[in-house]
Amino acid sequence: MAGTAIFWFRRDLRLADNTGLLRALAEAASVQPVFVFDTTILAGLPRQDRRVDFIHRSLQALHETLQTCGGGLRVVHGDPVRELPALARALKADVVYCNDDYEPAAVARDAAVESALNAMDVRFERSKDAVVFARDEVLTQQRKPYTVFTPYRKAWFARLKAEPLADLDTLRAEPLAALHKRLAPSRGGQLPSLADLGFETTDLDALGVVAGTTGAEAALQQFLQHAIGEYPTDRDIPGTEGTSRLSLHNRFGTLSIRRLVAEAQAHAHDHPRHAEACTTWISELAWRDFFFQILHHHPHVAEGPFKTVYEHLAWENDDALFAAWCEGRTGYPIVDAAMRQLVETGFMHNRLRMVAASFLTKDLLIDWRRGEAFFALHLLDYELACNNGNWQWAASTGCDPQPYFRVFNPARQSERFDPEARFIHAYLPALRAVPADYLHEPAKHAKVLARHGVVLGKDYPEPVVEHAERARRAVRLFELARQSAE
Ligand SMILES: Cc1cc2nc3c(=O)[nH]c(=O)nc-3n(C[C@H](O)[C@H](O)[C@H](O)COP(=O)(O)OP(=O)(O)OC[C@H]3O[C@@H](n4cnc5c(N)ncnc54)[C@H](O)[C@@H]3O)c2cc1C
Repeated sequence: MAGTAIFWFRRDLRLADNTGLLRALAEAASVQPVFVFDTTILAGLPRQDRRVDFIHRSLQALHETLQTCGGGLRVVHGDPVRELPALARALKADVVYCNDDYEPAAVARDAAVESALNAMDVRFERSKDAVVFARDEVLTQQRKPYTVFTPYRKAWFARLKAEPLADLDTLRAEPLAALHKRLAPSRGGQLPSLADLGFETTDLDALGVVAGTTGAEAALQQFLQHAIGEYPTDRDIPGTEGTSRLSLHNRFGTLSIRRLVAEAQAHAHDHPRHAEACTTWISELAWRDFFFQILHHHPHVAEGPFKTVYEHLAWENDDALFAAWCEGRTGYPIVDAAMRQLVETGFMHNRLRMVAASFLTKDLLIDWRRGEAFFALHLLDYELACNNGNWQWAASTGCDPQPYFRVFNPARQSERFDPEARFIHAYLPALRAVPADYLHEPAKHAKVLARHGVVLGKDYPEPVVEHAERARRAVRLFELARQSAE
């Protein structure tokens, strides 16, 4: 058994079913939990950053629970590559435990932390935690990584069946007895405030975002009790509460991913008529694993297209059109409402992420990487692997993508998924007086809009491009790129 260990919290801000923490508690006599506010990341962020606020609140909750067990969280502000070895030295730790992070920058940071620790004879032990199956755990029969989701999904479910998860009681339980026994005695300190870290409180309360495990549990219970049964249909309707809203919690690990799968399986068992819906939802968690393993096996996707044939695709990259998209003034209400939701709330509904991404790449002919970066800046649930994978799917440059010649028509998407314009009305107050039928293609109904007090070009923008013409141009761009790569 190790003597003193550090457990380094990162994207796993919970106690229950935290693989690395459980391992530290089982293997070391004394465990000091630590979180490092990484100055190399924080330096580039605005003073009001919802994600930093969310992390800070989640840490506060963790600290309070740890205090009830006789210890506490130690929060450091600095560069982990320097701070962790310094802390290991100060605490005379033999080992630092943490959970795997798969993003290229985190992998590089961990390699640097590991070599600094090893140079001091301190071990660095990582565990799988953020995904159900990682890296090489789901491979083809030829032991190759999958690049197409449907067969990956089949193999993912087969592995899940062959290796059932721990039972729900185990996945739900916080290891309080082990914490009481093994936590390094409390230093009784306070966590640094947001202001100490150079940040300010944000509008999370006004947005109804509850941090920590409390917020995650509430979102899970709401979804299981009210929405999972209708998930296959309601998940596509942005004007309803049809999805779990757990992505932010999945990002920061305030609930374990294995627990989510097990909860859905248990719900299917108890409500057989919801079984198919539960499987559909679990498949979304498999998509998440799929994109993590794509990033791991094909790290070039972080910078460029998965399909290298599109490396030199001649995006037009018109700055004025990009600004119109970012600011929600393209003249396509479903796109504009989606972009307002993103900027105002830090969330965008999945159907609308697909619509907005398709519009940027196929209607505005703007490089998907610019859209990806804009989403990364605003999404509370921003996750490199998922954001990149989905952007590339929408842009038709990714693995298993939407075919390049199939271009989403924003008007048809709007009619189909926001037929009563509930979502459009919610985010575009200027259009609230206009009935839904005229909002899917407002330019065709300028006179009706004017009768409802909306003058196109004054109260709401004219369309910045004409969809059919741009869609044809997009297909040509893709064909040219393919020809020149031959
Ligand atoms: C262009 C684009 C960008 C995206 N960027 C991100 C991102 O940065 N971070 C992120 O977590 N998701 C991203 N997604 C996927 C998806 O839109 C969100 O995960 C989902 O909207 C979150 O809402 P929810 O938690 O209510 O999802 P639910 O429908 O309840 O799904 C449950 C969970 O499954 C996972 N999931 C769902 N859909 C996907 C998907 N298509 N790919 C990967 N995982 C999925 C999420 O963890 C989600 O919380 C993106 C999708 C698109 C089209």
